Amino acid sequence: MPSCSKFRVVICGAGIGGLTAAVALSEYPDIDVEVYECAAELAEVGAGICVYPRPWEILRRLGVTDDLLKYTEAREGAAPSFKYRKSDQNIGVEFCKLATCANSFTFHRADFQQSLLRRLPASCRTHCSKRLRSYFQRPTGVIDVLFEDGSTTVCDILVGADGIKSAVRGDFVKEQVAWARSRGRHIEVAEYNAAVDPVWSGTVAYRALIPAERLRSRAPNHPIFLTPTQHYYVGKNNFVIAYPVSRGKLINFAAFSSRPELENTIFDGPWVSTVDKEEFSSLFSAWEPDVQDLISV
Ligand SMILES: Cc1cc2nc3c(=O)[nH]c(=O)nc-3n(C[C@H](O)[C@H](O)[C@H](O)COP(=O)(O)OP(=O)(O)OC[C@H]3O[C@@H](n4cnc5c(N)ncnc54)[C@H](O)[C@@H]3O)c2cc1C
Repeated sequence: MPSCSKFRVVICGAGIGGLTAAVALSEYPDIDVEVYECAAELAEVGAGICVYPRPWEILRRLGVTDDLLKYTEAREGAAPSFKYRKSDQNIGVEFCKLATCANSFTFHRADFQQSLLRRLPASCRTHCSKRLRSYFQRPTGVIDVLFEDGSTTVCDILVGADGIKSAVRGDFVKEQVAWARSRGRHIEVAEYNAAVDPVWSGTVAYRALIPAERLRSRAPNHPIFLTPTQHYYVGKNNFVIAYPVSRGKLINFAAFSSRPELENTIFDGPWVSTVDKEEFSSLFSAWEPDVQDLISV
């Protein structure tokens, strides 16, 4: 049981946000930190993520960057350039090379998550298979947290780091609705109500991790091998991002398809599913060869 004299923080969600908060808060001996995650284990999920200079500086202060550098080809001090090509045609055209004054770092999400987990002190307890159902704040300020399996815990601060469909945010916004309604603030009631459920951006992302060797045997001179930075292949309403992760062993691939007229609507269907590449390859069939190589491997 946590010591009563300590300030108790419960973090809901062991993704990048939750674990970073846990590492930061665990530096303070008078704060008791516990992380609750709904997944049965913290296994390999997700694909590539890119960390830009400002969050990198925070991670450095948290002492995570030495470990993280083992999982990326990017080096500190280097100033990379992001390459943008107009690619929705047979012969693509590079129209922008964005040179930045500090580096960005690309990772497989699982490597990133494991680095953060290694940095957590033993005093910070991480519980899996714990899906938060709801919370309730007593008039004293103490928060009761209820999980789907019927178990409960208490804390002084609850951090909602449970992703885009956050249960914590849902309850928090409903609290705000009740508060605004009790004061007759009808415009705020409507605004809060609109924020309970996330709305769709109108964009679908198709993500994959491509073994670099497979791409190399098909296209040994693919630009991604010549400049291992972020390559943006853009066209009307669709674009592709590709960059190496896991020290160049994998290529993170993400193809985005936007329907601007559907922005701010509710997405009809499962948010995450597995699809065959035929579902999206036709969107890019007239695109330049560098994109075809990424899609065909
Ligand atoms: C295609 C794509 C590409 C992206 N590329 C980048 C990029 O290059 N750089 C970048 O910085 N970001 C990128 N992002 C965004 C990035 O993935 C997210 O911003 C980031 O993962 C969010 O981290 P998080 O910790 O807030 O949430 P998540 O990573 O979603 O973690 C939430 C955690 O909470 C758990 N959870 C959910 N509900 C509950 C519950 N009720 N109880 C307990 N646990 C719960 C989940 O299992 C999960 O482990 C990308 C996103 C997409 C979709």
